[in-house]
Amino acid sequence: KFPDIASPLRTKAIMNTYGLTFKKSLGQNFLTDVNVLKKIVSAAKIAENDDVIEIGPGIGALTEQLAKGAHRVLALELDKRLLPVLAETLAPYDNVKVLHQDVLKADLENLLAENLKNSTSLKVVANLPYYITSPIILYLLNTGIKFDALVVMMQKEVAERLSALPGTKAYGSLSVRVQYQMKVKTPFAVSRTVFIPQPNVDSAIVVLTPLRAKSAVPFDEAAFFKLVRGCFAHRRKSLWNNLKSIFGKEEHTKESLSEALSELNLSPQIRAENLSVTEFVFLTNKLHELKV
Ligand code: SAM
Repeated sequence: KFPDIASPLRTKAIMNTYGLTFKKSLGQNFLTDVNVLKKIVSAAKIAENDDVIEIGPGIGALTEQLAKGAHRVLALELDKRLLPVLAETLAPYDNVKVLHQDVLKADLENLLAENLKNSTSLKVVANLPYYITSPIILYLLNTGIKFDALVVMMQKEVAERLSALPGTKAYGSLSVRVQYQMKVKTPFAVSRTVFIPQPNVDSAIVVLTPLRAKSAVPFDEAAFFKLVRGCFAHRRKSLWNNLKSIFGKEEHTKESLSEALSELNLSPQIRAENLSVTEFVFLTNKLHELKV
C-alpha cells in the first residue's frame, strides 16, 4: 500500500517520475502535511452524503483525503500536465472525477448537472491558487449555486480581509460582499513550511457558510455591490466624496445624497470602512427611493 500522496517523499517521487516542475504562474504550492489536510477535511465537516468540488487538485493530496470521507469528489484542474498524474494517484478512489477546467471559465451549473446528479449536500473544499483567490470566491458566490460550505485555504492577508469587521484596516468591499451572504470563520492558520515549494506568505483556512437570513436585503444586488465598490474606490476619501464620484456633482444629486445620509444618520465625513453591511444595504435602498 502506498503512503499518502501528500507525504513529502511521495510528492517528490511523483514529481520526479513525471518529470514535473512547479508552475509558479498557476500558484502551484502543494501541501505535504497529511495532518493539515486532515484538519481541513474536519473543518469542512465532510460526511458521507457530501459531494465536494475541489478547485486545483494538483497531484491529488487533498483530493485523496476528501475521497476517503465524501460521497463524491469533482476536481477541476487547469494544468493539463497533471491529468495523467491524477489518473494514477487517484486510481484507488472510485468516487473521484477529475476534469480539465479553468474554474473561472467553467459552467459550474452544467458540470454539476452532468457529474454530481442528485446531490443532497454540496461543498467546495480547496487549497486555492493564490493569484486568483478573490476572483474565485466572487465567482462562486455569484453563480447562485447553493453551496453548504466553502472551505478554502488562502493567503493569510486575504483571509483577514474576508473576516474583517468595520473600522479595521482590512475591512473593504470584499469583506462586505462576502459577509452580506456568508458567515465567515477562520479556524486555523497554516505555516508556509508545509508546502512544496514554500510560498513567501503564510496561509489560513476560511470556512464560509450561507447565512440563514440576511440582515438586510437590497432592492437590487447588482446596485448594492456597485455602490459598495464605489464607496471603497478611494479609501482615504470621505463617504461623501466617493458618493459624488459615483453619482455626479449636480446640485439636485448632491441634495438627494445629503438627504439620504441624513435620514440614515450617517455623517458625510465618515469613510466607507466605518459602514456596516446593513448600513450599505440601507444606503443602497434609500438612494433608490430618492431616485439618485
Ligand atoms: N490541491 C493541491 C494541494 O493542496 O497540494 C494543489 C493546490 S495549488 C495551491 C493550486 C492548484 O490550482 C494547482 O494545481 C494549479 O495548477 C491549479 N489551478 C491554478 N489555476 C487554476 C484555475 N484557473 N482553474 C483550476 N485550477 C487551477
